[in-house]
Amino acid sequence: MQIKKGSLDFSLLRKKAEDETEAMVGFLRDLIALPSPSGRERDVALRIREEMDRIGFDEAFIDDYGSVIGRIGKGSPRLVFDGHIDTVGVADLSAWSFDPFKGKVEDGYVCGRGASDNKAAPVVQIYGLKVLKELVGGNFPCTVYIVGSVQEEACDGLALGHAIQHSIKEKVDAVVLGECTGCAIYRGHRGRMEIMVSTAGISSHASAPERGDNAIYKMAPIIKEVEALNVNLKDDPFLGKGTIAVTKVECDTDSINCIPYACRIYLDRRLTTGEDRELALRQIRELSSASDAGVKVLRFAEPSYTGKVLDVEKYYPTWVLPEEHRLVQDARGAYLALFGCEPKIGKWTFSTNGVSSMGRLGISTIGFGPGEERFAHTNQDKCPIEDLRTACAFYAALPLFVSK
Ligand SMILES: [Zn+2]
Repeated sequence: MQIKKGSLDFSLLRKKAEDETEAMVGFLRDLIALPSPSGRERDVALRIREEMDRIGFDEAFIDDYGSVIGRIGKGSPRLVFDGHIDTVGVADLSAWSFDPFKGKVEDGYVCGRGASDNKAAPVVQIYGLKVLKELVGGNFPCTVYIVGSVQEEACDGLALGHAIQHSIKEKVDAVVLGECTGCAIYRGHRGRMEIMVSTAGISSHASAPERGDNAIYKMAPIIKEVEALNVNLKDDPFLGKGTIAVTKVECDTDSINCIPYACRIYLDRRLTTGEDRELALRQIRELSSASDAGVKVLRFAEPSYTGKVLDVEKYYPTWVLPEEHRLVQDARGAYLALFGCEPKIGKWTFSTNGVSSMGRLGISTIGFGPGEERFAHTNQDKCPIEDLRTACAFYAALPLFVSK
């Protein structure tokens, strides 16, 4: 027998999500208490696999790059629910009003590093599947993989792309990202890339600069041109404007009293609709003062905690799923059935693993996550407990709407 969404009582599903509140808060606090900056996610991956096993996932494993992957159900369609399990670090403990690794519960929030970005995602996704499994028993409507991906803060999309292409041995039809959306449905964001521009000079004694060729002076007009370029980049009514900014300057010189023989600047480029890698590089190479400069995309080749290296360019493509797309509308249908009102539909300001699932691999992708983007990466990192219930119910309902 196939369970149809029409025969399901969505208030019961919501009630069951509510009943998991204490368990979800406890699980999120456990994850917060296991610090997991990018490259050190082993403990948190093991804890998540343990929870998947306890709940009775059909399989749960850690892949060669260190991401934790669990599956419930079989057959088409095949969904991936992704939440990254690494966090940014804590540079200055004294700037926090609470211990970032305690998971303090206060005023309806769970507080701690990663509470909003993005440890609440695996919590609501895993408990969403638990709720659905308990309701439908053996009649799980489709295949759902949950990926707790590593290294997202260091290189968005890398671990999720690897999991989809190499660790999950089946074709994936759609991806839902648990990055914080405040329980709205998000359908895209600007892409980005990291670029280095280099100029070469000739060193001489600084007391006779005319004998050398100052690499910093060669870079100065390029910096001014980059600043001007930013004003003229493409705009898009949904994603906003493309941007470029110089974010770091460095030079090589043998001493303060030598003329520098090399200079490098680093550029953060945000790419809106219609902007891609080739366009962004061409715009720099065509700057009138950059004809002799080197221009290249930086690479990411840091090992994950398993020691595996995936050497990739730091180019993260723009992606947008149209509002009328079936996946967006299925998600909207699930939200409406659960809560009786229209969900907000929007986009992220920051970048997510969608750069690989949809930007590179072309798999339809949306986002729905507990927590608000404005608390991510701040010393007020926290997630509303109400959002845990809402998102748990959403992830329980969504598989019924995506499978027809
Ligand atoms: Zn994130």
